[in-house]
Amino acid sequence: MPFEYNSKEEFKVKLTEWIGDVFYDILPEHGYEVREEQVYTAYQFADAVCNKKVHLAEAGLGTGKTFAYLLSAIAYARFSGKPVVIACATTALQEQLAGCEGDILTLSRLLGFEIDARMAKDPRQYICDVKVEDTGESDLISTEMKQWINKTKRGERSEIPTISDRVWKRIGWDESMVCELCSSRGFCKLVKAREHYRPTKDLIIAGHEIFFQDLWTREERIADGKLPILPSYSAVIFDEGHKIMLPAAMQAGEQISKEEIDTIILSLEDIQGARDSFASIIVAVEDASNEFFTCLSSRVIPDERSERLSLRINDTLLRTASTFHKTLGELLFEMQVEQELYNESLPMSLIQAYEGQIERAIRALNRFVRNKSTDIIPWVDKRDDSFWVVPKNISEMLDQHLFRKGLPVIFTSATLSNEGDFNYFIRTLGVKNASKSTVGSPFDLEKQAVVYLTQSTNSREDRFTKLVSLLSQNGGRALVLTNSMEEVRKIRKSLEKYPLPFEVLWEDKGERGYLVRKFREEETSVLIGTNFWEGIDVPGEALTMLIVWQLPFPSLDPIIEVQRIEAKKQGLDPAITIDYPEMGLKLKQGCGRLIRTEEDHGAIVILDSVIGEPWEKVVKGALPIGVSINFL
Ligand code: SF4
Repeated sequence: MPFEYNSKEEFKVKLTEWIGDVFYDILPEHGYEVREEQVYTAYQFADAVCNKKVHLAEAGLGTGKTFAYLLSAIAYARFSGKPVVIACATTALQEQLAGCEGDILTLSRLLGFEIDARMAKDPRQYICDVKVEDTGESDLISTEMKQWINKTKRGERSEIPTISDRVWKRIGWDESMVCELCSSRGFCKLVKAREHYRPTKDLIIAGHEIFFQDLWTREERIADGKLPILPSYSAVIFDEGHKIMLPAAMQAGEQISKEEIDTIILSLEDIQGARDSFASIIVAVEDASNEFFTCLSSRVIPDERSERLSLRINDTLLRTASTFHKTLGELLFEMQVEQELYNESLPMSLIQAYEGQIERAIRALNRFVRNKSTDIIPWVDKRDDSFWVVPKNISEMLDQHLFRKGLPVIFTSATLSNEGDFNYFIRTLGVKNASKSTVGSPFDLEKQAVVYLTQSTNSREDRFTKLVSLLSQNGGRALVLTNSMEEVRKIRKSLEKYPLPFEVLWEDKGERGYLVRKFREEETSVLIGTNFWEGIDVPGEALTMLIVWQLPFPSLDPIIEVQRIEAKKQGLDPAITIDYPEMGLKLKQGCGRLIRTEEDHGAIVILDSVIGEPWEKVVKGALPIGVSINFL
């Protein structure tokens, strides 16, 4: 422990005193300035963990909330004898906290003791041994990569940062890999990754996805005699807490992929000596699956910007889903009745895995057909055409699995409230009796930042000319934010013609954590991407210009679509009620990337049209308070 105490009550007092010592003595000795907003927030975190509260902590730009929550988290983990989970919205944020030269290592050096913090990343950040084997001697795998694959223990993407998305797709784990069927299960690198973080003493730096995957399956896994995904923990702190709803819903949802069903059918077709009735059921499932997925693909609403595609549900889609559901039920029944026969042809573990997959598919179709989307959200995942059904309202699940457990649960973000009103967030979470705190930015933003807007509607060509000119004038040192990866590629194509005297880093050309580190280190570099609106910290001269290429309006994402429909039902304008506030929130987060310290300075340039547009007020409200607005 960083301090001594003799009782639970004394722990609370000593924690508060220690926090005071750290912020008023230890950090200033190392050149850190005391920020009253940071100290206040740190005391709020301490109060929340000691009194096991659900707490919403809104901390404005530059408050330094990371150090503020880390102190309470470390002390509470040691006090309780169980690690505290810090759940992050992105891998970049996980790296920023627990990567080499991350915030935790910095804090550890400042405090003079070791902090045991390990990352529990999304499984997609690790290689899958089977995929590596399948990729074999492909030209895509360079000699350097082969050497890395041979020697890596956990196969973590951040260990080979220059790898592109295209190559990673060939070797990284993804949802299409059915681990239940895999002969390497229990021995592969993904398991080694879990074994690495399981004995963590202080902090588990998890992704939101993996946190909810654990939360929703924890009790079932324990009942089945399996280890939960995360070890037992004493508290959870959601960094970027405003972003939990999508991963929470997805992890509570069900997914059906045609590829998975086809694999089952192919395997079952090979069973020797099966009865005729079994063979007919397999044919019926195959027909029903083809019919359902064909109908599904004809009912998706195209959207270039969203990975999730909404559906136009009609009677035909519901009928094909119903038939598919019925035939899968018959197949499952037949498999269970004739299990002994099939067991002669297929290993028992495989049959059980198939049964599990079929049961999940049945559950998804049942929820879809029965609910007709009244309390579920269906969508098609653009990346693999899989069908998803997720609950519309996860607040009850959150209450049952998290809030009622009596652990300290903290949500922190720069954007939890609308001008101090937390009601929207509280309603969405369904949390009762949450305590709240809010602090603004300690920076002198009026002096440190300036904003430029364009006066008239920009043609694409105008916008591009301005972009090149701005980057040249600023000598790089810029973060360019777009609204889609497609747009990143389009900018690259246009920018190829211009020989710029600094490095341009592209989001789709490297691992995100690596790109952010490189952007920080190569002072004149430019970073262009669509997923850097939040969660990255680049202080100093490496970022003196933030260019908003497009305003971040939400896409046709089904989760947003549902909110739009709900707003419409209540007689509200969905653009004003959902789209503009969503855009404003994301823009506010994006603007927050520019000024990270009291020494930082720079310009925010919005190249998208603002003046005279219906969203002008929202855009201006999202800009840092007090900054002067100029025109290009
Ligand atoms: S268990 Fe899963 S992650 Fe591991 S090798 Fe098999 S498919 Fe890949």
